[in-house]
Amino acid sequence: MKHNAFTAGRDLLFPNHCMGCNALISEPERFCENCKKDLTYVGELPPISQIRAAAAVYPYNRVSSGILRRKQEPGYVSEKAMAEDMELAFHRFRFPLPDLILPVPAHSFKVWWTQYDHGMVLARAVAKQFNVPLGVRVLGKQRFTRPQHTLDRKKRSRNLVGAFAVLRPDEVRGRIILLVDDVITTGHTISACAAELRHSGAREVYALSYAYTQK
Ligand SMILES: [Zn+2]
Repeated sequence: MKHNAFTAGRDLLFPNHCMGCNALISEPERFCENCKKDLTYVGELPPISQIRAAAAVYPYNRVSSGILRRKQEPGYVSEKAMAEDMELAFHRFRFPLPDLILPVPAHSFKVWWTQYDHGMVLARAVAKQFNVPLGVRVLGKQRFTRPQHTLDRKKRSRNLVGAFAVLRPDEVRGRIILLVDDVITTGHTISACAAELRHSGAREVYALSYAYTQK
């Protein structure tokens, strides 16, 4: 974009920053050229048990992890911009439009302690973007679990047994559900959520995440 006195003045009034590194960039870009290089599109993920299909937008790396970390600082990262990218990923795969969008739940004590529900923030933005109802307290986390990345493969699935529960089965029965998460790594967490949802009669469960840890 041409930089003249007008755009320079406007940038001072309404600065547009790269969501990845905070560098000043020109509208309507969201990322600087340097960050863009690290943001290759991921797309459909390998099969995950209990999930009909899953997709992610970006690989989990320097740029996307920074965005997810700074999402809780007001004004720094636009959840709407994240939701727009997620909608693109979703439509590229022609997943059916869900009846209900659910975040991967955090334990209520953790949300109270940190005063922030990571999962809910992004799921709310995605639900708004899709114009689909957001399920609040439909799926809950019943107990603390150890961080999945600290455990080996065997312990990971055991760590999640009984961790999640459907609190409002009437909202789930017969519905197509889209689970939204910040990051998918092994898929154990969303798989455990989907197992509970299907047990409560969900028709199909899909998953969509902002970032994906590629092995
Ligand atoms: Zn950048």
